[in-house]
Amino acid sequence: MTTKSRKKIYEGKAKILYEGPEPGTLVQYFKDDATAFNAQKKAVLDGKGVINNRISEFVMTKLNNIGVQNHFIKRLNLREQLIREVEIIPLEVVCRNVVAGSMAKRFGLPEGQQLPRSIIEFYYKNDALEDPMVTEEHVTAFNWANTQEIDEILAMTLRVNDFLSGMFAAVGITLVDFKIEYGRLFEGEFSRVILADEISPDSCRLWDAQTGDKLDKDRFRRDLGNVIESYAEVAKRLGIMGDMPKVIEGGITS
Ligand code: C5P
Repeated sequence: MTTKSRKKIYEGKAKILYEGPEPGTLVQYFKDDATAFNAQKKAVLDGKGVINNRISEFVMTKLNNIGVQNHFIKRLNLREQLIREVEIIPLEVVCRNVVAGSMAKRFGLPEGQQLPRSIIEFYYKNDALEDPMVTEEHVTAFNWANTQEIDEILAMTLRVNDFLSGMFAAVGITLVDFKIEYGRLFEGEFSRVILADEISPDSCRLWDAQTGDKLDKDRFRRDLGNVIESYAEVAKRLGIMGDMPKVIEGGITS
């Protein structure tokens, strides 16, 4: 089935979800569109979708291998992956190891300050409200998730953080922070929480461990240039740039 003939289920800022080939599956399409500051800043970055599809596949597969269940089934082509359909929990779960971004701004702290321990924050996923930060009290009071689900989310997020921090450190990259999303996978009357969405330089802060250079979406947010080159550098260090087509690599490096 081609993308055109598939039924579109949802279109976000950087991805589109289409109906999948079997019930309970969806096709996640990675766009080249980049947005920041709640879509006030927009651009099309040639090749971004291809790189993020590949990086997300790599990371989700590794996480699956260590028992962090997630929605990824398989990559279909350059821009699409087959995923399990879940009921998205309307939270952006942010995990931080180093002060940066909104935390630096909110608390008046210098970017780059190491945190004494990893900190997990919840934001209510709502563009109209600009994703306000919330506490567990809000999450349970408004029935976005129950306490057991919150416990699972916290435990899984710490595992993801430990694994990704090690994985990136091994290739000379510091995992400063990242955002992940979770969804409910239904099995009869029961549901379990699994990791969903994507993990890519769009959703992580990745700094070169030696130079501190930013290799993530802050290059776009802050007009630092070389956005795609930096995403490609992450893929290269993870050893997955080789299986991306030359034309993409040409597009990236030109
Ligand atoms: O902006 P802030 O410092 O809160 O972002 C924390 C982390 O979450 C960053 O890695 C950022 O890329 C990610 N994030 C995201 N989508 C959002 C907000 C933050 O991927 N809507």
